[in-house]
Amino acid sequence: MRCWYDFHIHTALSPCGDNDMTPNNIVNMAKIKGLDAIAVTDHNSVKNAKAVMDAGSLIGLTVIPGMEIETCEEIHVVALFPNIENAVFAGDQVAKHLPSAKNRPDIFGEQLIMDKEDNVVGYEEQMLITATDLDIFEVFSLVKSAGGVAYPAHVDRHSYSVLSNLGFIPPELDTKFIEISKNVTDVNQYVANKNLEKYNLIFSSDAHYLWDISEKIHGFDVEQPSVEKIIDFFK
Ligand SMILES: [Zn+2]
Ligand SMILES: [Zn+2]
Repeated sequence: MRCWYDFHIHTALSPCGDNDMTPNNIVNMAKIKGLDAIAVTDHNSVKNAKAVMDAGSLIGLTVIPGMEIETCEEIHVVALFPNIENAVFAGDQVAKHLPSAKNRPDIFGEQLIMDKEDNVVGYEEQMLITATDLDIFEVFSLVKSAGGVAYPAHVDRHSYSVLSNLGFIPPELDTKFIEISKNVTDVNQYVANKNLEKYNLIFSSDAHYLWDISEKIHGFDVEQPSVEKIIDFFK
């Protein structure tokens, strides 16, 4: 079947994510848009992933637990995991590699931890919107050690992307996929200009607001849109 997806969505846990990005708002909006599968990818944390997965399962929407990890080169990497346990394991590792600074909600925004009924059950104190001390290779191997898949996020962006910060994708980087943002209007031309033909392209919204969640326009063929099968697709 064709699986319509959006694999880069922030919840209210990300300080830059709107507080309306609650588990039920996200999954219901994705369902209205006609998507089959989404991924929750908060900055350097998976603490809302379980709540969104639970909300998704109630309405038959597949939710992949994920994370947007920032490397020490300030490159954003999308990480997707085969189950919540592995995601939590990876999240705990990433937390150890963040600076000890606390979030400043007045400057960066709140970091809300929610349950599957959209109740706020806590506030993450550790500042999430910052770089880890892991380089891009270390981030990829951390994700792999947790059974997940990683690929560079929004490679076309002028900041926080592998192309903006390194100038190229290291050939030895273990990735078959790259994410292209919606800012690219002529994808074929972009890919040709940047010599990115060898990569498979993933298109996701990087939604921080409900209305940014993707329309039903990007899909791939998969036996069934379960978390496991989707992770297999990436491998
Ligand atoms: Zn990003
Ligand atoms: Zn993002």
